[in-house]
Amino acid sequence: MIRLADPNYPAQVVYGHRLADTELIVSIGSGTLARARQPERSPEWQAYVNGRDVEVVILEQHACPARARLREAELIAERRPILNRHHLQGPHRQVLRGFTKQGVRCACGAANCYGREAAEREEIGRHADCARGSENGPEDVSGPVYVLAQDFYYLDCDGDGIGCE
Ligand SMILES: [Zn+2]
Repeated sequence: MIRLADPNYPAQVVYGHRLADTELIVSIGSGTLARARQPERSPEWQAYVNGRDVEVVILEQHACPARARLREAELIAERRPILNRHHLQGPHRQVLRGFTKQGVRCACGAANCYGREAAEREEIGRHADCARGSENGPEDVSGPVYVLAQDFYYLDCDGDGIGCE
């Protein structure tokens, strides 16, 4: 018998929807495969699809829900699908900080858990400083970098979540 190591965290997919027989992905999301195939969608999605057949394209698979959520946001910012309204300017801060849709930092136990990685980066960020500029942190960072937590050393001067630009 084959079963998931942690039944609380089924394998996550980052998926795209496209109209059958087209190449254009019109929306990107993440979640379980069952979620990817669910027909219940926003009114905007329903109106655009208008009863036509939709193909689900699996773009990526991840064990960690927070990493799947991060990649969803990054792919939306990159590809700008016509039906997505969030993350067009890049991943939201909660996503960058490794939080799941349940609003807590992911601790799924996967080898590449993004929640754990984000926590580690925040710890490093507390001791960092941009390579150029005034030195108020003990280590230098070459940017740009995502600023995940409290910006202790003012790496992110314009407050857009990206430091050392
Ligand atoms: Zn995780």
